[in-house]
Amino acid sequence: MSVAYDFDAVSTTTPNDLEAFWMGFTANRAFKARPRMVARAKDMHYFTPEGRPILDGSAGLWCANAGHGRDPIVQAIQKQAAELDFAPTFQFGHPTAFRVASRIAELAPGDLDHVFFCNSGSEADDTALKIALAYHALKGQATRTRLIGRERGYHGVGFGGTSVGGISPNRRFFGSLLPGVDHLPSTYDREKQAFSKGEPEWGAERAEALEGLVALHDAQTIAAVIVEPMAGSTGGLPAPKGYLKRLREICDKYGILLIFDEVITGFGRLGFPFAAERYGVVPDMIAFAKGVTSGTVPMGGVIVRKDIYDTFMNGPEHVIELFHGYTYSGHPLACAASLATLDLYRDEGLFERARAIEPIFADAVMSLKGKPGILDIRTVGLVAAFDMAPSAEGVGKRGFKAMEVGFHDNGIMFRVTGDTIAVSPPLIISESQIGEIVDKLSKTIDAVM
Ligand code: PMP
Repeated sequence: MSVAYDFDAVSTTTPNDLEAFWMGFTANRAFKARPRMVARAKDMHYFTPEGRPILDGSAGLWCANAGHGRDPIVQAIQKQAAELDFAPTFQFGHPTAFRVASRIAELAPGDLDHVFFCNSGSEADDTALKIALAYHALKGQATRTRLIGRERGYHGVGFGGTSVGGISPNRRFFGSLLPGVDHLPSTYDREKQAFSKGEPEWGAERAEALEGLVALHDAQTIAAVIVEPMAGSTGGLPAPKGYLKRLREICDKYGILLIFDEVITGFGRLGFPFAAERYGVVPDMIAFAKGVTSGTVPMGGVIVRKDIYDTFMNGPEHVIELFHGYTYSGHPLACAASLATLDLYRDEGLFERARAIEPIFADAVMSLKGKPGILDIRTVGLVAAFDMAPSAEGVGKRGFKAMEVGFHDNGIMFRVTGDTIAVSPPLIISESQIGEIVDKLSKTIDAVM
């Protein structure tokens, strides 16, 4: 498959340009020696500047859930840019922001019915943590300042999110981070969970570690627990059966707020608007981003329970209820993109579709079980992760090589962490494209083993 391509745009990328951009979470030197560049995208594919199609096995960066270049979203952004390019949402407003907040609240479970906007997952997580602290303070429980994350959790790169996050390379070199932070153990155990489809049977008992932290510190010092229903960045680790429910019970028992980081799992990735619905557990806050605009315009936010919002609205008479917000909170282009995206998800039934094809996807990816060097395959919703045995050159080398071979030789983009390949295609993927992904992965894995 090839498309017409504007080569003028390519010729503007000079070697100098390659130098100037310091890329995040990237091996810059290796990238600049052999760039993996895309210049266009449509539906399930990226296209290199030369027009070579790359099958999008990662929905960009877990975000393009509706696929790429979707006309209604593109048109909505264009129209909004022409009509209202920017408006502040501090002390002023514009209608689209209110409309999209209502739409998101409608999708959220239970009494999660107010939305605070920001621009990314990192901002969403830091916002949720700050709301938790301010909420307790307003309720006269200012001693509740301790925040609890989880080993192998990823909550973005702000100082709050980095502190509750449990990925050591992300924390190293950044000083002492926030004080008063603890981590629950990861729920992953290869021996007990290898090659699981959906939620592993084993692991709910790991929630009991929260009781241990309460015993250690006293509940009156703990503000909130933040977890991803499925830890994406450390290799697609779904919550074991019953784990989130148990966390909810313990949080309720001690007045601790429970925050779900649904930056990846929100908007259909696990076959539901939010994973909270899949697990039948209603948290106190949901942090979201990515899929809310299908990745087209940066947007994130936090959905909070009515009681939390009311606490601020009924609090002492301040001029401003919460001294927090971002210049681009509820940006008109993001809001327009989001409304069009949510319409598309609804009109095309994409969440239901993800749910319906989950078993087909799971069977397809599990067909790679037994390949030499594959230590584990996990899959839940439209996420699959493949742990490869590290090479003698060191941890992560094989994963990096797989990414290069996948892109340059086999025409597929996927995400790699260490020696784990993560796959999370747009929800519009067809059955034959699932087969294509598995085929390309199979070839890639063979090449690097
Ligand atoms: N939380 C989770 C669970 C994520 O997966 C990510 C991004 N991958 C973030 C937070 C941070 O989002 P962003 O990169 O938009 O800041």
